[in-house]
Amino acid sequence: PFELRGKSVYVAGHRGMVGSALVRRLAREDVRLVTVERREVDLRNQAAVFDWFAQMRPQVAFLAAAKVGGIVANDTLRAEFIYDNIAIATNALHAAHQSGVEKLMFLGSSCIYPKLAPQPLHEDAMLTGPLESTNEPYAIAKIAGIKMAEAYRHQYGSDFISVMPTNLYGPGDNYHPELSHVVAALIRRFHEAKVSGAKTVVVWGTGTPRREFLYVDDMADACVHLMKTYSGAELINVGTGTDITIAEFAHLVADVIGYIGEIHFDTSRPDGTPRKLLDVSRLTNLGWCAATSLHDGLKRAYAAYLSHEYKTEI
Ligand code: GDP
Repeated sequence: PFELRGKSVYVAGHRGMVGSALVRRLAREDVRLVTVERREVDLRNQAAVFDWFAQMRPQVAFLAAAKVGGIVANDTLRAEFIYDNIAIATNALHAAHQSGVEKLMFLGSSCIYPKLAPQPLHEDAMLTGPLESTNEPYAIAKIAGIKMAEAYRHQYGSDFISVMPTNLYGPGDNYHPELSHVVAALIRRFHEAKVSGAKTVVVWGTGTPRREFLYVDDMADACVHLMKTYSGAELINVGTGTDITIAEFAHLVADVIGYIGEIHFDTSRPDGTPRKLLDVSRLTNLGWCAATSLHDGLKRAYAAYLSHEYKTEI
């Protein structure tokens, strides 16, 4: 196992939902946490990233920085999503190599798998077929990062590992009404309907797509577990191993929030991938499983929303 104790640990993206959960989780480890604000080091700026790594020389790095968003953000901000995410990955991975980082974790996404890959999605499904078109630029950037980590391991022996989270939610999520992911979108919409007394809430698509949702603090816990216990070229999926339909999910959110009106499915809105459930057998074989039920996680996410622990800037 890899010893984290006493190490300087860099979390890239510490202001984001995943990065801030990693910061919370790492507070329980005996490590020296290193972070830097975007206004000081923009991860898209190669020279700034190389200089910062050369100066700080972190021993361990979690790359949780990314430009992310829901189905509309992915589909419309296509250039930004591919440029920003390739730049972040290539700059940070190469800088980590140059400055001698001992161990690095690259965070990918379940959208790297082909649109019609067999379910549950096994790690070996990557690059076996065409991607879902709405998030292809984002997925290509993440695949580039994964392949870079693999190449550096192959050529230089770098201990770079890659993990693929399923759909994440929780404190620090982005609540932009149009550009957010489904969990934040529905928490906000059902809450606003409850407050205003509206009789109908609109949910996008047919309600039939299936998704798996993981509470972000569980994700952070899995990352720390894998950092300590796993070294290998193979990807590791991180999820709960169960999925539900968007219609079922919408009713669950309505229930948690206490909204009692109608739910209308707007089929002019995109469904995206029909199903996205990860095969988590590699992860469970490594001794980790998710602790937070969807119901409890949603209650906590809603509480964080009510205390304004969120942002709306993509
Ligand atoms: P995806 O998992 O990459 O498709 O990302 P999303 O979280 O954006 O969408 C998940 C599913 O939820 C898709 O089938 C969407 O059509 C559906 N969905 C339903 N209502 C909404 C909404 O208000 N916002 C978003 N982003 N998705 C929604």
